[in-house]
Amino acid sequence: MQNSHAINADLHCHSTVSDGMLSPEDVAARAHAGGVAFWALTDHDEVKGQARARAAAEALGMRYVPGVEISVTWAGQTVHIVGLQIDPGNQVLVNGLAATRSGRAARAQDIGEALAAIGIGGAYEGALRHVGNPDLISRTHFARWLVEQGRCKTIGEVFDDYLGEGCPGYVGHRWAKLADAVGWIQAAGGIPVMAHPGRYHYTQLQHDALFDEFKQLGGAAVEVVTGSHTPEQYRQYANVAHHYGLLGSRGSDFHGPGEGRIELGSLPPLPSSVTPVWHDW
Ligand code: AMP
Ligand code: MN
Ligand code: MN
Ligand code: MN
Repeated sequence: MQNSHAINADLHCHSTVSDGMLSPEDVAARAHAGGVAFWALTDHDEVKGQARARAAAEALGMRYVPGVEISVTWAGQTVHIVGLQIDPGNQVLVNGLAATRSGRAARAQDIGEALAAIGIGGAYEGALRHVGNPDLISRTHFARWLVEQGRCKTIGEVFDDYLGEGCPGYVGHRWAKLADAVGWIQAAGGIPVMAHPGRYHYTQLQHDALFDEFKQLGGAAVEVVTGSHTPEQYRQYANVAHHYGLLGSRGSDFHGPGEGRIELGSLPPLPSSVTPVWHDW
């Protein structure tokens, strides 16, 4: 078999089924054009795009890996857990995701009200115009509308000024428990992966406790090379993978053309010390 480090795997990205800008078919085509050999669509809290993604990937001769990215609340912050090689039809997973999605509509109205309170009216209706899946309204949709309105130049700026934690448009939300998210993925026969850990703002003690708990629950991998990490963080999380006995994953977290700095399939390979999560696929 080909050295698994040399396989261009992109195991984290989004479509219009959550907060991406392209259809599952268009993301598949873009991944293929970017040289991706193993591809997973990992929409937030939703598996509705999985059949379309698989069909599009297979039509292009690209190996498809069914995926999802689940929102979790842990120690008061949001953590994302990716599930790979899931059965998207599994009822435990499907029901769990439906429960997790159910708070999004009311939260979005609250975000609209919070923005109205600082003089930005019409944000809820504006965000809705960017939504591809009515069950999955996300802060990203508000961010795109705010950029469109000329409030900010980039999505990143919107999160810094309006929608990030502590900002005037931020509305706290209680997502799934870590144990539940890992359990749903396992029930669906999948592999739980800690997504972009470099993005979380925990103390060292909390960080270690998060990984201890994830590992104890059956967590199997960590994203080492992701669009959210710096090269220094690739090295840092290669060490974390080694320390906790976790496999390593790689994914762009692509949301749309011109959004974010990483194109599908363009990240560097995993460090050689890390065993790829796809090593035995
Ligand atoms: P939500 O699930 O509605 O809280 O939205 C979270 C989404 O917002 C993430 O999946 C990212 O796509 C996006 N996001 C969060 N923080 C940032 C940031 N600093 N810059 C750009 N996008 C962000
Ligand atoms: Mn997103
Ligand atoms: Mn994420
Ligand atoms: Mn993501």
